[in-house]
Amino acid sequence: MTQYDYDLFVIGGGSGGVRAGRVAASLGKRVAIAEEYRFGGTCVIRGCVPKKLFVYASQFPEHFEDAAGYGWTVGERSFDWKTLIANKDKEIARLEGLYRKGLENAGATIIESRAVLEDAHTIRLQKDGRTVTAETILIATGGHPSLHPALPGHEHCITSDEAFHLEELPKAIVIAGGGYIGVEFANIFHGLGVETTLIYRGKEILGRFDKDLRTALHVEMEAKGIKVLCKEIFTKIEKRPDGRLEAHTNADRTLVVDQVMLAIGRQPNTSGLGLDRAGVTTGPKGEIIVDDYSRTNVENIYAVGDVTDRVQLTPVAIHEAMCFVDTVYRGKPTKPDHEAVATAVFSQPELGTVGLSEEDAAKKYDELEIYKATFRPMRHTLSGRMEKMVMKLIVDAASRRVVGAHVLGVDAGEMAQLLGIAVKAKLTKEDFDATMAVHPTAAEELVTMYQPSYRVKNGELIA
Ligand SMILES: Cc1cc2nc3c(=O)[nH]c(=O)nc-3n(C[C@H](O)[C@H](O)[C@H](O)COP(=O)(O)OP(=O)(O)OC[C@H]3O[C@@H](n4cnc5c(N)ncnc54)[C@H](O)[C@@H]3O)c2cc1C
Repeated sequence: MTQYDYDLFVIGGGSGGVRAGRVAASLGKRVAIAEEYRFGGTCVIRGCVPKKLFVYASQFPEHFEDAAGYGWTVGERSFDWKTLIANKDKEIARLEGLYRKGLENAGATIIESRAVLEDAHTIRLQKDGRTVTAETILIATGGHPSLHPALPGHEHCITSDEAFHLEELPKAIVIAGGGYIGVEFANIFHGLGVETTLIYRGKEILGRFDKDLRTALHVEMEAKGIKVLCKEIFTKIEKRPDGRLEAHTNADRTLVVDQVMLAIGRQPNTSGLGLDRAGVTTGPKGEIIVDDYSRTNVENIYAVGDVTDRVQLTPVAIHEAMCFVDTVYRGKPTKPDHEAVATAVFSQPELGTVGLSEEDAAKKYDELEIYKATFRPMRHTLSGRMEKMVMKLIVDAASRRVVGAHVLGVDAGEMAQLLGIAVKAKLTKEDFDATMAVHPTAAEELVTMYQPSYRVKNGELIA
């Protein structure tokens, strides 16, 4: 029998890689994990965590404004970008330390190097050129922001990676992209006082979310002062002698800004990884193609997380990693479940969602009941803020199951987490109706919408 250096070699120390490496090591496997940048990966270092800290920072101006209606006088305020960056970096360093410690405590070997495949069992560590071998290899290399080489002046643009480390807070920014990263950063920068424009080539932002919530969020963002330009694209970016940037669009518009940010998608980190040498097949975007158990076409090589371009979210990468461990090391072949993944957009207001949008549900089910409420939440009564909340339940009329639940408003992400349990458990509208309201909350609306707002039959609205 061939003796390998390791039972498992994990390439990539992000959400998926760290979880798989740590759990496999704790089961007594000889595990090594290589990370070329910082342990914690995108989520911890330049994704979910710093993003959410920025979201919190950007919400304070509205809190200060809202305080007045409740009798508070808030004194002189000022914001220091460098303090936010420094504190954020400190927190991220703490989390990175925890990730490393978890791996060390479990007995995994930590390797700080880029790792590439030499063949199906051999990995080259680029830092010192050494090669090691492993029985099983897990690729969890994640992704990186898409650039736009075809755009003249693209070299003047930043992506979310740089946005976390800007030397100075820009006075004006334009962000390209209608996905959640673009929308979240538009709200962050606007909340921090930056004149913000979001430009998106599609008809409406957040394409894969329910249309009523997308439209309502668009309206709220514009009401706050974010300029949202749909069906528009950049034609070129030019740097002026004063250092500012001119972003030209196909609508003959010129935006003069300090930063242009591209949030136009993410690419799997597979280039130069040696996949060809190992014989691993990739798809059109460079994503690693895997079967239902996250196994590639090469028997001993698996891949999880963003590099497989399935559902690009941290909990999904972690879930796929746990299924990999169950399948390979616990004798329990387990397929990752990508159905009804609850998720949130940390915009202002927040958007939380699970299950099908009305549009997708209409394609799947013959008849739907739609329950929808739009209202001003109690906390905005004394504050005087006009911002509306939207709640929407999509019910399959035949089975009575709630197949989609969508919330726009304060704490929508927190609500989506709990709605996720109900939708995942295939609860019916009657289960929602039988649930006692928690009063006074905004979320009580979710269990008190007794009459359908309208029905949809074969894709047609039937009142
Ligand atoms: C701005 C932003 C905000 C986000 N917000 C959220 C959110 O709110 N909620 C959510 O669920 N998800 C969010 N995500 C997505 C989430 O971060 C990813 O889905 C998740 O990190 C994927 O985990 P992963 O393990 O697949 O890859 P990653 O976390 O990207 O880890 C891959 C690691 O592999 C390393 N690597 C790559 N190639 C090599 C190599 N050859 N050798 C060694 N190391 C290598 C990389 O340096 C990286 O550390 C966000 C992403 C971004 C960019």
